[in-house]
Amino acid sequence: MSIKKQLQELKSVLPKQVTLVAVSKTKPVQDLMKAYDVGQRIFGENKVQEMVEKYQQMPKDIQWHMIGHVQRNKVKYMAPFVDLIHGVDSLKLLSEINKQALKNNRCINGLLQIKIAAEDSKFGMTKNDAIQLMKSSEFKNLKNIKIKGVMGMATFTDDQNKIRKEFETLKSTFSELKSIQDSMHIISMGMSGDYPLAIECGSTMIRVGSYIFGARNYQ
Ligand SMILES: *Cc1c(COP(=O)(O)O)cnc(C)c1O
Repeated sequence: MSIKKQLQELKSVLPKQVTLVAVSKTKPVQDLMKAYDVGQRIFGENKVQEMVEKYQQMPKDIQWHMIGHVQRNKVKYMAPFVDLIHGVDSLKLLSEINKQALKNNRCINGLLQIKIAAEDSKFGMTKNDAIQLMKSSEFKNLKNIKIKGVMGMATFTDDQNKIRKEFETLKSTFSELKSIQDSMHIISMGMSGDYPLAIECGSTMIRVGSYIFGARNYQ
């Protein structure tokens, strides 16, 4: 199956309110350009250096999303161009993003990563951490980062009920946070294996890689 075909097939079944992030990590620029040529403009990467290299080589109307865990010392490399950082999970990281955004005279968008999978998830905040953070005066003073919503990753399992519960948890966490800051509107959940379920549960942004670009080869 070709990249163009897969992408067009996926887009034809997505509801209007759902934004597609084409997850292109590990894939060469030629593959990304195939998606670009049929209209895809949002790409997701999980390593800062790889995203910077692709940004430099590709057309400048692309919106680059950082979907992986971000180390604070790497923020400066993507601050000039990154559109949305999905994995924001601490005030320290928020402060660094704010600082680098200010240096570049821009505002960077972010999503709070919420821990929804019970096991083995090192990253993400609990709902209560997120509520506390958003109510803090430190948070309110950060003018160069805008939190637009939440992101979560479900457990890697075949148990659809379990995945559904986790997505529902993220959706309800989003609703609580939105009552603190009404401008929030993004729920980033759903990948190749679980995006239909994520959309059923209220996702407004899916992050899909292998369905579009084929299996990844990590070496
Ligand atoms: C790699 C990745 C995806 C895409 O995974 P696929 O199963 O290939 O669709 C989505 N979200 C995050 C955070 C990822 O790291």
